[in-house]
Amino acid sequence: MLQVGINGYGTIGKRVADAVRAQPDMEVVGVAKTRPNFEAEGAVENGYSLYAAVEERAERFDDAGIELAGMVDEMVERADVVVDACPSGIGAENKSLYDEYDTPALYQGGESADVGDVSFNARANFEDAAGARHVRVVSCNTTGLSRLIAPLREEYGVEKVRATLVRRGGDPAQTGRGPINDILPNPISLPSHHGPDVKTIFPDLAIDTLGLKVPATLMHMHSVNVSLETEPDAEEVRELLENESRLFVVPERMNVDGAGKLKEFAMDRGRPRGDLWENCIWGESVSMEDNDLYLFQAIHQESDVVPENVDAIRAVTNAADARESVETTNDALGIGF
Ligand code: NAD
Repeated sequence: MLQVGINGYGTIGKRVADAVRAQPDMEVVGVAKTRPNFEAEGAVENGYSLYAAVEERAERFDDAGIELAGMVDEMVERADVVVDACPSGIGAENKSLYDEYDTPALYQGGESADVGDVSFNARANFEDAAGARHVRVVSCNTTGLSRLIAPLREEYGVEKVRATLVRRGGDPAQTGRGPINDILPNPISLPSHHGPDVKTIFPDLAIDTLGLKVPATLMHMHSVNVSLETEPDAEEVRELLENESRLFVVPERMNVDGAGKLKEFAMDRGRPRGDLWENCIWGESVSMEDNDLYLFQAIHQESDVVPENVDAIRAVTNAADARESVETTNDALGIGF
C-alpha cells in the first residue's frame, strides 16, 4: 500500500485525501494543517491523523481540543509521496522539506511551472512523471483543456486552439473573492496565463487564451475553438469525446442549461460535495465549420484535478501505467455517468 501524506487540507487537499483513501492501493498516512478550524475537526472526525504544519502553532490545536498525531516533518518522513495542496506559492517554500526526507512531492497548479521537474496531466503525459521527484499537477482550467486537446491531437491533429475562459470569481467558501457585480476581462491583455500553462503539457501546441472573471462560484465555463488538421463531421468528434472517460458529453435530453443544473445533477447523483471530476461538454454545442471545431465546456474547479493527483501518485512511484492507473482511479471514485 502506498502511504500518502497531504500537506494543506483545504478545498483541494481534503478532496485528494478522500480520493486517496478510496483507492485499493493507497492509504492516507496523515494530513497537515496550519490552524484548527472546521476542516481540522472534520479531518479528525474522518479518521485522518492530523499533523501540525507549523510547529509554533501546534498549541492552538490543543487549545481547540483537537488531537494532533505530530508535526508535519513526521508525516513527510512516513509518506511514500506527499501531495502539497497549500495555497499558491507555499508549495515552493515546502520543497526543501520534502527533499530533506527524500519524499517525492506533488504540487498544485497555483505554483509556477518550475516548482516541478514536470507538469502533469494523466491523459496527456502520464509517462513523463515516471519516477520524478517533484511534479506539478496543472490547474483546473489547464487540466480541462488538456483532457480535451489530447484526443483531438491524436485523432485529427490540431492546427490551433483558441479558448475564452469565463472564470468563477472564487470558490463557494472564498468569501473575500469577487467580483460581486461586474464582468472583468482578466487579464485585460492577451494571452491569459492559461495558454502558456497548457504548453507545459503540449510544448509545440499553438494556443491563444483569453480570460474573464464573473460573479459566480459554481464552475468555470470555456468557449473553445480548435482548428483541426482534418475535417471530421461533428457527430464523429462527439463520439470521440464520448469515449473519453473523463469527458462527460452532456446529452440534450438532460435539459441542462448551465452550471447550476450540472451541480444539481451531481448532488442528485450523490457525488461527494457535489463534485464533477469530469469536463462537462454540452453535446449540442459540438459543431464543425470546415476544419473548425466549436464547443462549450464547464469545469468544476474544486474537483477536476483530484483524480489527476491520484494518478500522479502512481506515476511518480511507478506503481502502474497510465491506462491501469486511470481505470483504477475512475473505478474507485465512480467517475463517468
Ligand atoms: P485553500 O486555501 O482552500 O486550501 C489551502 C490549505 O492549506 C488551507 O487549509 C490553508 O490553511 C493551508 N495552509 C496554508 N499554509 C500552509 C502551510 N504552510 N502548510 C500546510 N498547510 C497550509 O486552497 P485550495 O483552493 O485548496 O488551493 C490549493 C492549491 O490548489 C493552490 O495551488 C491552487 O492554485 C490549486 N488549485 C485550486 C483550485 C480551486 O479552484 N480551489 C483548483 C485547482 C488547483
